[in-house]
Amino acid sequence: MRISAEEMLNLRGVRPTPQRVVITEYLLNTECHPTAEQVLDAVANALPVPLSKATVYNTLNTLVESGVIQEVYTEPGGCARYDANVTRHHHFVDTRNGRIYDIPFEAIPTLEKSLEGKFKINNYTVTFYGERVDDA
Ligand SMILES: [Zn+2]
Repeated sequence: MRISAEEMLNLRGVRPTPQRVVITEYLLNTECHPTAEQVLDAVANALPVPLSKATVYNTLNTLVESGVIQEVYTEPGGCARYDANVTRHHHFVDTRNGRIYDIPFEAIPTLEKSLEGKFKINNYTVTFYGERVDDA
């Protein structure tokens, strides 16, 4: 069984306010890597009092800082997208419809070796662009 949003927040030492629970819950249940605007659209009316844009942005920042979710950038200069999958992984962007898929980190052989001695790499992710062909 999957961990609840509230448990996830407690685990990361974040007080589970209703706003944080609603946004975390939404991100745990979607694989679409939404932008802040898309998160706002999805959760705006989830609570008795409508969520403001500022609240959604602030909440997303708090969740990123505490490691509950991570920011993902799939286009240079593009806006941040939010991902509840905080394990190390890569992404595949379907250029026909913009859908973003998680690619397991192990799917790509480690790349550090080829740059050894020139750069010290602390982290990296790879984004693939193409078309999904298995019709899933
Ligand atoms: Zn992802």
